[in-house]
Amino acid sequence: MREVDNASFYNSMRWRKVRKYFLKRNPICRICEYEGKIKSATVVDHIRPITMGGKEFDIKNLQSLCESHHNAKSAREGHERRKVKTYKRTR
Ligand SMILES: [Zn+2]
Repeated sequence: MREVDNASFYNSMRWRKVRKYFLKRNPICRICEYEGKIKSATVVDHIRPITMGGKEFDIKNLQSLCESHHNAKSAREGHERRKVKTYKRTR
């Protein structure tokens, strides 16, 4: 199953490093920022999901999101493409 692949990706050393680095540089949820709110991001999200061909380590494909916005996005993507299980949260 795909989600297994995803889980191993999100647990990989390389991703953890990229994620940490990215959150440090982009500590505010991007969507909250658009809405004029300041909320710290906890999730680094792939703008174009990996399961849809998005690049895993391309900084341009990443965005910082707070947990609720990330969940909302994941739910939407999961709804649109049922077979694709969206990524698990990493902590
Ligand atoms: Zn947010």
